[in-house]
Amino acid sequence: MTNHTHKAALLILLSVTLVGCADISLTAPVGNESASTANSATSSPISPTPIPTKAAAPTPTATPKATPHTTTVPSATPGASPAIQTPTATPKVAVSTEPSKTKPLPTDRTPYSWYYMKKKTGQVPDFPHETKSFSSDQKAVWVGTGKKVYLTIDAGGPLIEVDLMLKSLKENNVKANFFITGNNIKKNPDYLKRIVADGHYVANHTMTHTDFNELTDDQIRKEIKDFEVVYKQITGKEVGNYFRFPYGHYNPHNLSLVSDMGYTSVFWSTAMRDWEPRANGAEDPYNDIMNNLHDGNVILMHQGSIENMQALDRICKEIKKRGYEFGLVTELQPKK
Ligand SMILES: [Zn+2]
Repeated sequence: MTNHTHKAALLILLSVTLVGCADISLTAPVGNESASTANSATSSPISPTPIPTKAAAPTPTATPKATPHTTTVPSATPGASPAIQTPTATPKVAVSTEPSKTKPLPTDRTPYSWYYMKKKTGQVPDFPHETKSFSSDQKAVWVGTGKKVYLTIDAGGPLIEVDLMLKSLKENNVKANFFITGNNIKKNPDYLKRIVADGHYVANHTMTHTDFNELTDDQIRKEIKDFEVVYKQITGKEVGNYFRFPYGHYNPHNLSLVSDMGYTSVFWSTAMRDWEPRANGAEDPYNDIMNNLHDGNVILMHQGSIENMQALDRICKEIKKRGYEFGLVTELQPKK
């Protein structure tokens, strides 16, 4: 706990723009990034956005969503000792094994919650200190360069205004990047088929959208593989190798584990508290995005926000008007 409080204090200091990848359905508790890690911090900082304090109060949202989301503390993971792939007994076998597999995963499970520090419009935000220690075996991206914008749509929650969304994207000739959960596509295969048919990119956002910091290695592998299987069942194709941690919760060990499975983790450089109702309707997502537009901007928006969907057409138009092109996350390469 002290660790968390410490972290929270740090976050306050940084006056960050913390926004997690929450899915609306999970509203309150989880919603904000570290349901626990940082929420104490949430109440304070947030330079730009008037963030309505913590989403704590379990809003009586009726949202059904079966997600077993109890999210307590992304504590030091239950007993899961570093289940490392022990380098086989015979050293020579290495040839037949993938090199990455022979390398033990880092044991560091310090829980992190993605955030960024917003600057003036047009300037690329600052990113968490921990990113500096990401190794090449921890493939991750969060911002690009140049006049490019990467629109990432998180569809781990309710799927609403799908027609409007697809129409807005199509009419503006924008290709987006969808991070969808397996449960969602299993229940709504047509949703996935339409997205794929429109040429958007689909990435792995796990099967059940559970906080990875609370799972064992085997559970994590299953979350990712289950998604791969469902995706293939529906589309007949393999899913691309980009991934996003539910709620942006990760730790060095998990980052390596996911990377070891061939995935590049995608974080973001703009996000919004869009799992809560927006005070000014569609104006809010529009302003949140425009006020933080910058080169290589990786924008995270949730599909489950009606205001996002209503603002999408205008957002696409304005971003283009400002000279940016929309890109796919596959263009973003992790540092070597
Ligand atoms: Zn999500």
